Amino acid sequence: RQAQYAAIRHLPAVTRDGVEIKLNLNAGLMVDLPFLEETGASGIGLFRTELQFMVANALPRTAEQLDLYRKVLDAAGERPVTFRTLDIGGDKVLPYMDVIQEENPAMGWRAIRLGLDRPGLLRSQVRAMLRAGAGREVRIMFPMVAAVEEFDAAKAIVERELTHLRRHDHRMPDRVQIGVMVEVPALLFQLDELLPRVDFLSVGSNDLVQFMFAVDRGNSRVANRFDVLSPPILRALRLLARKGREHGKLVTLCGELASRPLEAMMLAGLGYRSLSLSPAAMGPVKSMLLELDLARLAALLDDLIDQPRPGASIRQRLRDFAEAEG
Ligand code: PEP
Ligand code: MG
Repeated sequence: RQAQYAAIRHLPAVTRDGVEIKLNLNAGLMVDLPFLEETGASGIGLFRTELQFMVANALPRTAEQLDLYRKVLDAAGERPVTFRTLDIGGDKVLPYMDVIQEENPAMGWRAIRLGLDRPGLLRSQVRAMLRAGAGREVRIMFPMVAAVEEFDAAKAIVERELTHLRRHDHRMPDRVQIGVMVEVPALLFQLDELLPRVDFLSVGSNDLVQFMFAVDRGNSRVANRFDVLSPPILRALRLLARKGREHGKLVTLCGELASRPLEAMMLAGLGYRSLSLSPAAMGPVKSMLLELDLARLAALLDDLIDQPRPGASIRQRLRDFAEAEG
């Protein structure tokens, strides 16, 4: 198996009917960077910046953040890197920050909410990203956005930092792309307002599924109660892919779903052309995509979603399809 994966490492993930799916890497620390070469990834689709903050003993200064982001961009070279701003708060507490007691941390004061209410930290982070990206493309995305206004406010912070850099004669990025993670179901009903404003979307299916089923992703009593391969989730994911295409905006999926071959197959069938996955998943997902007849799968999925048969397992139907494909 490993030898087989190594052999396809530098091949693009193109299905049998000629559709390319970009396979990006999920990363967060320096130790993840060698995986770019090892896996032949197209880029880094999700760089979880909070990991640097979680392993530190004190709040990393702008200079330390800048240093990390520069190393990440240097390692990536021509490959695009999408930095996610801090996703802390809730249950991701920093050892050097005051603990805030909340009854529902997953739905509490976290991620972009904290970033907008205490913008000092978000500003320093955005500044570090923009400076690290001098002379190249910088891609920034915000976690846990629930409303269009939150995106507007976060984008204004990026613009303010760009003005600051320009005024101080720093070398500017060539291009800045700003996007949103789709993790809160309310965004599904704001896509026509949101999509014209953003440069891209990235679906955080770990949180999106948690909130759609109201099932705590970390609670083993309930975490496997519902199958992700079910009509409500597939409808939401299909809607996102369709709306993205309609508005001409890239929609990536960077949750754990993309790291499981059967689920990744489903995503390709629903129209996703960009996934971001863990390093170990790269080989298995790519070898599956190389064997796939995407047009036939898309037709099957539409049928499974639009004519649901309660009690019949979509997972089993997709397994049967995958087996018949070889
Ligand atoms: C997600 O929610 O799917 C995601 C990618 O973010 P995280 O797992 O870091 O919450
Ligand atoms: Mg998330």
